[in-house]
Amino acid sequence: MTDAAPALSARIAAVHRRLLQVYGEPARRGCSDPVGALIQTILSQNTSDVNTARAYASLRAAFPHWRAVMDAPTEAVADAIRSGGLANQKAPRIQAVLRRIYEARGEFDLDWLAALPVDEARRWLVSLPGVGNKTASIVLLFCFGRPAFPVDTHVHRVTRRLGLAPVAASPDAVMRIIEAHAPPEWFYPLHLNLIRHGRQRCKARNPRCNDCPLADLCDFF
Ligand code: SF4
Repeated sequence: MTDAAPALSARIAAVHRRLLQVYGEPARRGCSDPVGALIQTILSQNTSDVNTARAYASLRAAFPHWRAVMDAPTEAVADAIRSGGLANQKAPRIQAVLRRIYEARGEFDLDWLAALPVDEARRWLVSLPGVGNKTASIVLLFCFGRPAFPVDTHVHRVTRRLGLAPVAASPDAVMRIIEAHAPPEWFYPLHLNLIRHGRQRCKARNPRCNDCPLADLCDFF
């Protein structure tokens, strides 16, 4: 750790506490189907939550089992997920991911990841086509309660404005900084509250700084 590390930890702690005061402790969302969560996260790339949910529901309705998705003509998978956008890219990606999952253990199951050290589980997930650290961390944190901090577009923007990471930090750099300077039990509430803050106040364009309960903690302000 550098000399700046305690100051950064204190800063993250101050932001975390303030977000809890403003937005509360986020409800825990269960995840009974890690494979489904992974496929949904791939579907969510470059589209809205509504379109993601629609495309996922359509995929599950069109194919009764993951094997059927894996074995189907790619065009049929693309047709099923068309409402999620980028269907011609996402369909072969989803099929390749399902193939890798099946090859790993001979079934469509990811529960074995829970027994691996978190870095090893993350390395395996990011080796899948189209899966980066954000997606891997979502699966690890939400489905397995592992200490992984997902950085989406809101978390990336808000953490840098608040000075929790350098302005030029990439999403992966933000992930590494938070994981190194915050206790793992904060990852879940901090991730969700930063997203909430980014959607409600710290918007990409025209952040509502004059009405922001974190303004006194914020570099950007
Ligand atoms: S003061 Fe403005 S930039 Fe800073 S966290 Fe609040 S809304 Fe975002």
